[in-house]
Amino acid sequence: MGELSAAPRVAFVTGAASGIGLATVKKLLADGYSVALVDHSGPGLERAMVATTAHSGNVISMQADVTSLEELTEAVHATEAALGDLTAVAACAGIEVMGAVLDIVPSDWDRVIAVNLTGVLNTAQATLPSLLRSRGSFVAVSSDAGTAASQGFAAYTASKHGAIGLVRCIALDYGPAGIRANLVAPSFVETPMARRIFAEVDEADEQFYRSAVPLGRFARADEVANAIAHLLGPEASYTNGAVYAIDGGSTAGYFRAIDESP
Ligand code: NAD
Repeated sequence: MGELSAAPRVAFVTGAASGIGLATVKKLLADGYSVALVDHSGPGLERAMVATTAHSGNVISMQADVTSLEELTEAVHATEAALGDLTAVAACAGIEVMGAVLDIVPSDWDRVIAVNLTGVLNTAQATLPSLLRSRGSFVAVSSDAGTAASQGFAAYTASKHGAIGLVRCIALDYGPAGIRANLVAPSFVETPMARRIFAEVDEADEQFYRSAVPLGRFARADEVANAIAHLLGPEASYTNGAVYAIDGGSTAGYFRAIDESP
């Protein structure tokens, strides 16, 4: 008697062209998923498709802006047609905007909320019909700025706090239908976003942020991707509405690095 084939695993990853999103694509491919890469950057998607050629598995890419529910819905329909119902969604698309409360200009506020918060809502609204059929799983990327404020990042902090509230609502609203929805909350991760931020600040500031991490370094994107894949997969079958801090201990409590060198 032939073996029953495992149900296909189909992932939809936004922000897939770079950083945490791209690392998540690679991890999910390694775990046996077929993966749809979604990003607003066409050239970024082309580079990401090249970066995944060493990985086996079905990969498709679709250009869509997470601020547009219409574009995301089209991308979901194209993914369903090519690969089947989605079983896993990783909402990784995000942008950074720096500035204290009095520095926020309306256009920056609107943009960061549109991408980091409304973008998660749009991703959920576009993908939930598919996830409801497959009883799939949803993960969004928040931030340590989603659980505590980050000084000088007021709009970003507000957007990442909002994303946590929203994804917890998905956990409550659709948990009874078999959907799990969770978030990861990384502190600084070595990605193009972090490099853009550190290009704007003094080296002393970067050193301060690094020294605030008990593990003494920033995260790698693949370390965040591993947490996302865990939350999306069957090993997290009872985890719903959780915020998974992946920050080297930096939000565990007050911490001051002590130089123990002789
Ligand atoms: P990144 O800039 O390397 O990648 C972000 C990706 O999102 C890019 O490919 C970009 O093209 C895409 N994107 C941006 N706006 C989009 C839009 N409107 N529609 C579709 N795609 C869009 O950044 P990253 O560090 O990989 O960040 C990924 C997520 O992790 C973000 O939500 C970010 O806020 C969060 N995060 C990052 C850090 C960090 O230190 N890097 C820390 C905590 C949380």
